[in-house]
Amino acid sequence: MKTGRDYKFWFCTGSQDLYGDECLAHVAEHSAIMVDGLNKSGVLPFEVVLKPTLLTNEMIRRTFNEANSDEDCAGVITWMHTFSPAKSWILGLQEYRKPLLHLHTQFNQEIPYETIDMDFMNEYQSAHGDREYGHIVSRMGIERKVIMGFWDDKNVQERIASWMRTAVGVMESSHIRVMRIADNMRNVAVTEGDKVEAQIKFGWEVDAYPVNEIAEAVEQVSKGDIDALVEEYYDKYDILLEGRDAAEFKKHVAVQAGIEIGFERFLEEKNYQAIVTHFGDLGSLKQLPGLAIQRLMEKGYGFGAEGDWKTAAMVRLMKIMTANVPNAKGTSMLEDYTYNLVPGKEGIIQAHMLEICPSIADGPIGIKVQPLSMGDREDPARLVFSAKEGKGVATSLIDLGNRFRLIINAVNCKKVEKPMPHLPVAQAFWTPEPNMQVGTEAWIYAGGAHHTAFSYDLSVEQMVDWADAMGIESVVIDKNTDIRTLKNELRWNSICYR
Ligand code: MN
Repeated sequence: MKTGRDYKFWFCTGSQDLYGDECLAHVAEHSAIMVDGLNKSGVLPFEVVLKPTLLTNEMIRRTFNEANSDEDCAGVITWMHTFSPAKSWILGLQEYRKPLLHLHTQFNQEIPYETIDMDFMNEYQSAHGDREYGHIVSRMGIERKVIMGFWDDKNVQERIASWMRTAVGVMESSHIRVMRIADNMRNVAVTEGDKVEAQIKFGWEVDAYPVNEIAEAVEQVSKGDIDALVEEYYDKYDILLEGRDAAEFKKHVAVQAGIEIGFERFLEEKNYQAIVTHFGDLGSLKQLPGLAIQRLMEKGYGFGAEGDWKTAAMVRLMKIMTANVPNAKGTSMLEDYTYNLVPGKEGIIQAHMLEICPSIADGPIGIKVQPLSMGDREDPARLVFSAKEGKGVATSLIDLGNRFRLIINAVNCKKVEKPMPHLPVAQAFWTPEPNMQVGTEAWIYAGGAHHTAFSYDLSVEQMVDWADAMGIESVVIDKNTDIRTLKNELRWNSICYR
């Protein structure tokens, strides 16, 4: 999957010149050991780069500005080994524009009970220095992440790793370009939104193209290229004819192969990483892009159906944030479809007309060709599968007219009890936290959409941090949600975020 660059994070230790050369030599030595340990831990997805100890106003300001202009730097990790008077940080922080982590840690894990004296106290005083630094960041109202704990602890390193992914999401957001090849579905509200405000807030570029321009790119795909891709499909997926003629079936599949190749070429040529379609506006395309869109999503493209550019951008963002996650379980657009309301077995079938990303599939993936109940084209080929079990996050970015709100629901994906032989689409099944009733009521109160951007590989914390970094409201629905508190939170947020 094509993402941004090979990002790095700068490690900046704060101190001052009051302590003498010997102490500062220790500070630099300890910082080097820590950075080396973090890089060798194997836990962090990106490299940490040690910078010289920051002592003065001028050094701090220069370093933050260098971080701004270094295209490979995705964020700065700050830590005060000793005391570092925080007024010296004001100008640097004021001019800094990238993600900031305050790693509130300490070089030594344990107090050296036998030998501790005032020299030790003065050299190892992160508890003191980090409070002075934290104060100025809070006073200046600067968004940052605070992670506390011993730097060589695996849990702390995992939290740093998660934050790094969020930081890359923040950096890469402004490189997301969404191609709209159809407008919003007529009369639908929740998929609408202010594209100018989205570019101001998130950096997203959302542009429309006439559907027949991309259809032309599809028509130009050679038969040889299509045949080769169809062969790949037939190798990779189970062919579920279900009584259809094998040759006619293959012709339908070939249409999707042409769409996959043509769409990808068009997106590449115009430099877009996400796309929206609409079943009611297909121009000269022979089928609604189904299998083709599913494969493009698996390659890392964002997608939103019925003109839903917000979901398309969110899917792309979450694909970027989860790039190269070890043993990733997948990220997709999904749609709340139908409920099981049997007590103790409650859940929501998540599906769409066709377009679910096979990265979330569990077990074999098949191809079916079936009629669509909507639209007026030939029966489209699609990939069918059921999704994995496990925890995930479902997100919905909505436009409330005066602001964006990101709704983040922790969900538990399960298997449906029984096979569904007549369901011709890929599906997931989940129960929202804290339970079906409260989770669903909370989603409705918060104004969440029917489309979601979903991932098994991201946490609620990461999505909240991303929303905070973007300066937008987020509403979490998880095991701690109760309706009265949530309704109050929505009231308070309406004042806070207007
Ligand atoms: Mn839909």
